Amino acid sequence: MVDEFIITIDGPCGAGKSTTAKLLAERLGFIYLDTGAMYRAVSLKLDQLGIDLLDDKMIKEILENTDITFEQTEKGNRIFLDGKDVSDDIRTSRIDMLASLISQKKIVRDALVKTQRKFGHGKRIVVEGRDAGTIIFPNAQLKFFLTASLLERTKRRYRERKEKGEDVSFSDILEEIKRRDEMDTKRDLAPLKPADGAINVDSTTLTINDVISFMESIYKKKRQQ
Ligand code: C5P
Repeated sequence: MVDEFIITIDGPCGAGKSTTAKLLAERLGFIYLDTGAMYRAVSLKLDQLGIDLLDDKMIKEILENTDITFEQTEKGNRIFLDGKDVSDDIRTSRIDMLASLISQKKIVRDALVKTQRKFGHGKRIVVEGRDAGTIIFPNAQLKFFLTASLLERTKRRYRERKEKGEDVSFSDILEEIKRRDEMDTKRDLAPLKPADGAINVDSTTLTINDVISFMESIYKKKRQQ
């Protein structure tokens, strides 16, 4: 039986959460959970089915019949929606916006938080998202809040989208990130904020490796206590 140890990393989009959480998990031999990918997968499904986002009854039914799993493949940690690998399909500007919208719905949050808690139970895990340390795992042993300046986050997201061949403009990405920040921080349910006891890490001028090494050193200290 492994001793449960939960590390949460919350923060705004583009702060480097995914890469950091994934690599930190690898380094520590932990499991990695990307909660944002789950909101994205649900958004993709609702979008593909053309569901009215105000139709809670229909959304509830769909959630009850949706299977979201993660698998380690030769392409890395991939997310499967109803058995299909959707890891690439969920990383588009359209799904960015839709996920921020549908994550405001109680019915969606309740369902996903339940699954996320089940997933982490009894494991050694790094969880990243917006409410990992505040709502999903308020008793996590180690919590981080990862940020970066708006300009730096825009640059990172712009580079990412360009590399994927998306035709995007810098100013559109900047506006999108501002809008998503606003939605994520101002919503009534599980708004993005540092959890009690979270260690703030500003990655604006840091490399991913700097961030991971810092987090790892805090983890090791904590383990020695
Ligand atoms: O982290 P990522 O950008 O993939 O998340 C997509 C969207 O899902 C976020 O903009 C946020 O609105 C929502 N989200 C959330 N709670 C989480 C993870 C993501 O509300 N734990």
